[in-house]
Amino acid sequence: VARFGMLIDLNTCIGCHACSVACKNEFDVPLGKFRDTVKYVEEGEYPKATRHFIPVLCNQCEDAPCLTACPTDAITRKPNGEVVIEEGDCNLNRFCMAACPYDAIYEDPQTKTASKCTFCEHRTSQGGQPACVEACPTGCRIFGDLDDPDSEISVKARQHELDVWKPEANTRPKVFYVDPRRALPLIAVDGVQVD
Ligand code: SF4
Repeated sequence: VARFGMLIDLNTCIGCHACSVACKNEFDVPLGKFRDTVKYVEEGEYPKATRHFIPVLCNQCEDAPCLTACPTDAITRKPNGEVVIEEGDCNLNRFCMAACPYDAIYEDPQTKTASKCTFCEHRTSQGGQPACVEACPTGCRIFGDLDDPDSEISVKARQHELDVWKPEANTRPKVFYVDPRRALPLIAVDGVQVD
């Protein structure tokens, strides 16, 4: 088994949304809902304004608040660490949505269940890559086994200082960012984040 994680290098994200489009296509995500999206924050004023792109998705937390919040045990952890909502056991009581600090869970009007990113467990359990990673034209998303010291993600992780979104939530996320411009904390501030 592996301990899957994702590393996103914000130096090379160009905000093209190819990741979000691939994800929508993979899961037939309804209009207005996202498993994976790209937020952006703007800083400064013309002529020194800058825009930062920050892809966000379920963090597949080691201490997942959604998993413990679900009263019907509809949320389980797969062998490689992915946190997955079993549709058949979900009665849409929305406890998971309230518990998630990343706003990563949405209500699917088609299935009438809660839904979210699974790190493309159907692909990755067969040795494939998540749809978002495959679609990214700049290669800024790296997916792999955090416990394998020779995996691409582990090698890159050793080369950079890594950040996580909302470390104060103490969820032990498995989505890591290279964020030298310190844009990540800005999307945690109400009123600053933009979808
Ligand atoms: Fe950024 Fe890659 Fe997504 Fe484009 S596909 S927005 S470069 S993460």
